[in-house]
Amino acid sequence: MMRITSLGAGGEVGRSAFLLEEEGKRVLFDYGIKIFGKDSKPRYPLPFTNPPNIALISHAHLDHIGHLPSLYKSSKIPWYSTPPTVDIAEVLWKDTIKLAKLKFQEQPFTQSNIEKAKFHWHPALYNQKITYDGLSFSFYDAGHIMGSASILVELKGKRILYSGDYKDSPTQLHKGLKHPGEVDVLLTEATYWNKDHPTRKEAEKQLIDTIRDIVESGGTAIIAAFALGRTQELIQVVRSYIKDIPVYVDGMGKQITKIYLKYPGYIRDFMKFKESVESVRMVESGKDRKKAIKEGNIIITTAGMLEGGPVLNYILNAPSNSGIILTGYQVEGTNGRRLLDEGKLIVDEYELSVDLPVTFIDFSAHAGRSEIISYVKRANPEIVIVEHVDDGDEFAEELKNLGFNALPIKTGQTFEF
Ligand SMILES: [Zn+2]
Ligand SMILES: [Zn+2]
Repeated sequence: MMRITSLGAGGEVGRSAFLLEEEGKRVLFDYGIKIFGKDSKPRYPLPFTNPPNIALISHAHLDHIGHLPSLYKSSKIPWYSTPPTVDIAEVLWKDTIKLAKLKFQEQPFTQSNIEKAKFHWHPALYNQKITYDGLSFSFYDAGHIMGSASILVELKGKRILYSGDYKDSPTQLHKGLKHPGEVDVLLTEATYWNKDHPTRKEAEKQLIDTIRDIVESGGTAIIAAFALGRTQELIQVVRSYIKDIPVYVDGMGKQITKIYLKYPGYIRDFMKFKESVESVRMVESGKDRKKAIKEGNIIITTAGMLEGGPVLNYILNAPSNSGIILTGYQVEGTNGRRLLDEGKLIVDEYELSVDLPVTFIDFSAHAGRSEIISYVKRANPEIVIVEHVDDGDEFAEELKNLGFNALPIKTGQTFEF
């Protein structure tokens, strides 16, 4: 009998962790954290009843890999991911320790747990079948961020696909996902099951028009971007349309950009990306920051949801006629959400009103509704488990109407087949 348990990301987005069990084989898919709980302390996956004997990690976002080092307080299990995933994760794990210190929160793991996790890591390259202890698995490009994968496990003659986060349509950096074909059991993310995103062409046009309006009126365009994926994509997008305006890049995105430059094979048009990166200015000092904020520039900076990072400093010191551009989903309770809904920010416990115009542009790295449905149809599974979504019930109903045996899983729930 096969068992699939959600230890997180069931009926919620965040702390992805799923355990697949069959006759003593226990495979863990992802081990993430949920960062924006209402009390703003991270939430972790539920504890194991039976610990896994192998972990397969889909990508480097913290909601998929953020808690992995904590496993290595006691465990010695092998874990697999693509090479960029472990490189990027290391930067994010170290940042997690730093942030916990700053907030006087309990450390979820230590530097030595990170070292141990790295020691037990094994590389999984795309489209390569790996066999371990009677289990076969393959990683397929998920088109979501650098190194992201959907993971296909073959166990006792059954094909089980864990989608991870995915995006089908191409962006300037990624070609879009590679689908592994028909499977028996599918676990699919469904973050945006109820909406389609604008095409990248449309989003790019909106971004470039907004930047030009701001700069032509004498202001600076302050673009808030996630450090991982979005910063790198926006560097290339901006540079492929605008060559004559200085672009400054600030925040943790700089460090991740260096990792992106290490993996040419994971980027659609590496030369174009490299040229774009070489044409922007990385902000390294207070002096650079003063230059960047002068009128007529473009600044791409973290944090994507305005929760810390240099972006707040830029907003508070922006010349008149500047504008703020948000390029990612703004979670409830974050400064980004507050700014969009109420024109306010909370900085160091003070509430500040911001009178600069704010524009939201949808550069999502996730599949929209039609892409998710097409992903499920191509997998044509006997069972589809709907996860990584706030409420999967309604979408599961829709999939049932399309003829699929769809189950919305909840964190803590186990399905047996
Ligand atoms: Zn992700
Ligand atoms: Zn995710």
